[in-house]
Amino acid sequence: MLQTVDIGSRSLDSYRSFVPPPIFDELASAAQSLAGARVLHLSATPYGGGVSELLRSAVPLLENLGIHAVWQVISGEESFFRVTKAIHNGLQGAAGSITEVDRAIYKRNSTRNAALLDGEYDFVFVHDPQPAAVLSFAGRRRGFWIWRCHIDTSAPNPEVWEFVRRYLVDYEAAVFTAADFVPPDLPVERVEVIPPAIDPLSPKNLALSGSTGREVLDWIGVDADAPLVTQVSRFDPWKDPLGVIAAYRLVRERVPGLQLALVGSMALDDPEAWDVYREIREASATDALIHVFTNLTGVGNVEVNAFQRLSDVVIQKSIREGFGLAVSEAMWKATPVVAGRAGGIPLQMADGAGGLLVGSVEELADAVVWLLEDPAAARELGRLGRDRVRDFFLLPRLLLSEIDLMRSLVEGPDAERTSIARDPVCGLLIAGQPVASVVREGRRHDFCSHDCRERFLRAGAAAGGAQPHREE
Ligand code: UDP
Repeated sequence: MLQTVDIGSRSLDSYRSFVPPPIFDELASAAQSLAGARVLHLSATPYGGGVSELLRSAVPLLENLGIHAVWQVISGEESFFRVTKAIHNGLQGAAGSITEVDRAIYKRNSTRNAALLDGEYDFVFVHDPQPAAVLSFAGRRRGFWIWRCHIDTSAPNPEVWEFVRRYLVDYEAAVFTAADFVPPDLPVERVEVIPPAIDPLSPKNLALSGSTGREVLDWIGVDADAPLVTQVSRFDPWKDPLGVIAAYRLVRERVPGLQLALVGSMALDDPEAWDVYREIREASATDALIHVFTNLTGVGNVEVNAFQRLSDVVIQKSIREGFGLAVSEAMWKATPVVAGRAGGIPLQMADGAGGLLVGSVEELADAVVWLLEDPAAARELGRLGRDRVRDFFLLPRLLLSEIDLMRSLVEGPDAERTSIARDPVCGLLIAGQPVASVVREGRRHDFCSHDCRERFLRAGAAAGGAQPHREE
């Protein structure tokens, strides 16, 4: 039997005050039509990284909605997770090849995990490439299998993609974080775009008073009275922690006494993290104002909450990114963010909400200085960020999108979908007043942001130009 991750119980009712009423009401009624359905979420690790963060919150809420949800994790030899990390990197475009030995390790571990799979499910969500081949080796098909890809697969290393691609052919559906991520030769017909979301009630995101937050930081040796910038992320080259240190050094020439915290988690499926950790320690060894923390030394959710809440600026200098939950987490706390223009980050910070997007170390340094020197502007950006997360990036919206997908798989292509408008560019559900709309050939399209509307218009123009439309 695969390892089941124990999770507590949760009540949808506690989310009522956080989400737009139409989302809340539709979620309850959509779930009714799936009452009693059995859902398995299969992932690679019970802790560390965005997927475990999401499942930790989503699974108990599904259960509360009357859907029997279980979260299980695969296991593997150390070499298996080295190979799956190389596959993860290759899917995000890294060079390199997977050898015959790597392929054999992946197949051997996938076969073993497939043999451990038991139980009957109506829907199986398989998260990311690590468990992707379990379906191929499971031998018999049970329910609808959905590959949930959380990473940026828009320009994968062709050899790695070809290897993973063959294991996807039997899936009924695939879900991506952004339309841009869908590889052109994906062998799955049914594709859905669903951006992730954060849980406002998790210990990482719940309201924390300033005084408690200061006590937490004080306890772990960070001076909450001195200026502080923080990046919270796995220790991963794609999150560019060394770029963060380089930018911090530039900023400190202009802001003496500035502290930098690098808060990183070690995930079970990420052996590369230790190498990155060592590089960070080397780069920061002689600098008492750079603090490096990990989940293994007791920096958990409440500490992350305090860092995201009390930092003057939160940094997320990703070069390649799936979604980047840590961005919405900081925005939810109204803390200004400076982040790399990568993956799902521009969607979260669309129309300038929450902070500034950057493309280089120098731009990052300039943006941080600007925010530190203009606290009123920083506060306003932070306020806009929190509003945007409330409107689009909280857990009930994500659950509604996923339940909507499950219903449509059961009922077929003509199934009635949620009545809530869906942004045709990013897939977000728009429960309130849309930020922008376009009427094209008599049909109205609503958008979560002006950025999405612009992309929609550009795509229309590229596809053949002057289609009649009226902007609202
Ligand atoms: N995280 C954490 N502790 C750490 C570093 C990261 O709890 O020391 C969490 C972070 O708050 C976020 C998740 O790990 O919830 C990372 O998700 P994200 O989508 O940002 O990146 P991923 O790791 O999935 O690439």
